[in-house]
Amino acid sequence: MLNNPRIRRGLMLIVVAPSGAGKTSLCRRLMADHDDLDLSISVTTRAARPGEEHGRDYHFIGDAQMDELVANDALLETASVHEFRYGTPREPVEKALSQGKNVLFDIDWQGAQRISVKAPSDVVRVFILPPSMSELKRRLVARAQDGMDVIERRLSRAKGEIAHWAEYDYVILNDDFDRSYAELAHIYHAEAARRSRGLWIAPFVDELMNESL
Ligand code: GDP
Ligand code: ADP
Ligand code: 5GP
Repeated sequence: MLNNPRIRRGLMLIVVAPSGAGKTSLCRRLMADHDDLDLSISVTTRAARPGEEHGRDYHFIGDAQMDELVANDALLETASVHEFRYGTPREPVEKALSQGKNVLFDIDWQGAQRISVKAPSDVVRVFILPPSMSELKRRLVARAQDGMDVIERRLSRAKGEIAHWAEYDYVILNDDFDRSYAELAHIYHAEAARRSRGLWIAPFVDELMNESL
């Protein structure tokens, strides 16, 4: 093996879905299986759900702190979703990408649009569809983390989110979880392996060509 550092350009994998489609479960599994992938941990003004941890699932902050982050241009994008404010901290993303790592974003369609405009050649967008609206409702109820009023609000927003499906590079129908996860992992691997991301390839090929036997 030639001694060429495998320098690469990191990609931004954006996964979007209506609440309850299984996005968080799929993203968690992808993170657990891949050391070269960093999760962008958003800030949000919503309260933590049972089992959610500050700094792992979200940075749970107040409105005033959100205003401060916006004023300091510390967020790559912000959006209001289900009456709360969400944002993507800029610094961890830029740091990870500069180290050649890939970054996973679990954000809404507005955030996906905003990041895509800023970094069109680094973004890969995946949309997760539920198998039916009744199954979406069943999953939100089974997750048992939100009250019925919150679930109704999320369901009423679901169609607005689904309407954006055509803006995505890939669409996964999350019926069978393991099959959906395999699809997501395949997409991730194929996109990460693109020639355009392999900054190491040209110098490596040069070395290969000049290697004396
Ligand atoms: P196959 O590789 O296509 O035969 O099918 P697998 O079920 O073994 O893998 C599904 C996808 O996950 C493929 O894209 C694999 O490359 C990818 N994969 C690679 N490493 C891992 C890993 O550590 N865990 C998981 N779950 N998937 C992986
Ligand atoms: P989201 O992040 O999109 O709101 P979650 O990942 O929290 O969704 O999933 C919502 C609920 O549905 C969770 O209880 C999760 O375990 C369940 N779930 C996810 N994918 C599937 C699937 N393919 N089949 C059945 N249940 C699923
Ligand atoms: P939840 O409250 O269910 O975790 O998330 C509600 C919605 O907000 C989801 O669609 C989620 O993807 C989105 N979201 C989470 N973090 C961000 C973020 O930083 N920016 C944007 N634009 N949306 C986010």
